[in-house]
Amino acid sequence: MKNIEELFPFLDQAKTITIVMHLKPDADAMGSSLGLCHFLNQFGHRLHVISPTNWADWLKWMPGAAAVTDYELNTERANKYLDEADWIFCLDFNTLARTRHMAGKLRSVKASKILIDHHQEPSLQDFAFGISDPNKSSTSEMVYDLIVRTGHCEKIDVATAQCLYAGVMTDTGSFRFSSATADVHRMVAVLKDTGLRHSKIHEELFDNFLENRLRFIGHVLQNRMDIYYEYNTALISVPWKDLVKYEIKTGDTEGLVNYPLTIKGIKLVALIIDRDEEIKCSFRSKDDFDVNSFARRYFEGGGHFNAAGGRSSGTLEQTVHQFIRAMKESMFELQKP
Ligand code: 5GP
Ligand code: MN
Repeated sequence: MKNIEELFPFLDQAKTITIVMHLKPDADAMGSSLGLCHFLNQFGHRLHVISPTNWADWLKWMPGAAAVTDYELNTERANKYLDEADWIFCLDFNTLARTRHMAGKLRSVKASKILIDHHQEPSLQDFAFGISDPNKSSTSEMVYDLIVRTGHCEKIDVATAQCLYAGVMTDTGSFRFSSATADVHRMVAVLKDTGLRHSKIHEELFDNFLENRLRFIGHVLQNRMDIYYEYNTALISVPWKDLVKYEIKTGDTEGLVNYPLTIKGIKLVALIIDRDEEIKCSFRSKDDFDVNSFARRYFEGGGHFNAAGGRSSGTLEQTVHQFIRAMKESMFELQKP
């Protein structure tokens, strides 16, 4: 993978550019993609943004979100955008498998694929150019850094700032994680200077759900959570029938995995959800328990040191058993004080 700076001299030559993100995008995937789109738009390029799947309602306020193409819904149109592109920016994922049904197409297109991502152990051979930096808080911070390095900071308008702020704020747990460095706070100061109203964005992202989601969380914490104190671990497993009963939509389960981390002493949390099409796993940890390695070893996944995901092709029950076995095998690290 070559250095992304090799592309800077071509930035102001009109190109057809497509930006893609990971499936079921979160605020960082969507925010970094739209932030980059707003920036590149000012150079006169032809731009398209594609998500591999649908996305949460709480992302729909983002400037530009309405023009994003859902690959699963509009495959033909999205394939055309990928075929026509000179450059394809790949944001907030480290392996093409994270784009689900789009992965095959991405492998075969002629355009140069350009990675901007902060996940661990990226598949660098899949990308012609790019930056990968697991020390960065978010892909949105990396897009901001990139804009600064091109020398075009003045092109950060309020729409760009809104998108990038949403990404960096959510990926740092509202500036709580150690990834919220002084550089991150300096970036936020620059975004604020564009006229960004940050409290409005917190409201859009966190105070915008329907009653059913809160009832669902109450039900799940009451009835679907097991605590294994001897392993400092909590597990939430959610059957498909719960998602149906509470009318749970894409994005409604975001953040659920964090609740058990508020219990004193809990080091590892797993959330295993039967989504019917697949069993989706989310892992969060505190301190020195590495969920990136855990998700890779046991659940075909990966991510960050303290936040990772994966999947299983078995049933919910089999996946829960698989998790309990994996937890027991990790006893030494989990019981370490
Ligand atoms: P979540 O649990 O919120 O789905 O994911 C946590 C973090 O791990 C996110 O940064 C997400 O992009 C990443 N992640 C989730 N699932 C996978 C996976 O299957 N493979 C890899 N490499 N990363 C994942
Ligand atoms: Mn991210």
